[in-house]
Amino acid sequence: MVVALNLAMFGPPGAGKGTQARRLATERGIPQVSTGDILREAVQGGTELGREVKAIMDAGELVGDDVMLGIVRERLSKADASGGFILDGFPRTVAQATALDDILEGRQGLVVLEIAVGDETLVNRLSRRRVCGNCGAIVGDTNGEAQLLCPTCGGELSQRSDDREDVVRGRLEVYHRETAPLVEFYQGRASFRTVDGDQPPEVVAQAVQAALSAVNGAAA
Ligand code: AMP
Repeated sequence: MVVALNLAMFGPPGAGKGTQARRLATERGIPQVSTGDILREAVQGGTELGREVKAIMDAGELVGDDVMLGIVRERLSKADASGGFILDGFPRTVAQATALDDILEGRQGLVVLEIAVGDETLVNRLSRRRVCGNCGAIVGDTNGEAQLLCPTCGGELSQRSDDREDVVRGRLEVYHRETAPLVEFYQGRASFRTVDGDQPPEVVAQAVQAALSAVNGAAA
């Protein structure tokens, strides 16, 4: 039997969740469900949801649990998520984690990975992070230069409005207050692992693979 990978990744902003989720999703042929991307698309598209969440996101605060749960419930009910998914940036609160268990009732076990990185590394990383407006690639080491083009597709790179240092410090505070308690929430589960994200992306990817194998081994 093929074991579906139902994975949730959490970690502070800039920990590399998006990069790792994207890589794994491609490898496994399952969707990367980034709640941040879904919200940014809504903002860009000027939808009702987008208008509702724009100011919250710009301030680096969290969108309300009810809104997020509606989004995730709907996304995970789509056919392409029936054979597995990678949640990137959800859950972010204990209330979301509790509700996720309910949403997933009856599906194969949830694997949860925390990607851990210290605050100063993150502030430094995020100030240099750029995102391709064309293919969505995340480019880490731009040295803060404004005019670089995407190495993958040549598209224009830009800085996320919430990657400015003052906003990043606020997002880290929110993370410690709202999201870090997830460690305690998941700690007792055999399918929970923490990966050191303060390493080059390829090394983190290997650690992610090792963590997934360890979880599989523990479940076998
Ligand atoms: P991200 O791209 O994951 O860093 O998310 C960007 C922003 O979207 C966050 O700073 C929040 O404002 C919002 N957001 C994304 N996911 C969630 C979530 N699970 N709960 C609440 N807000 C979220």
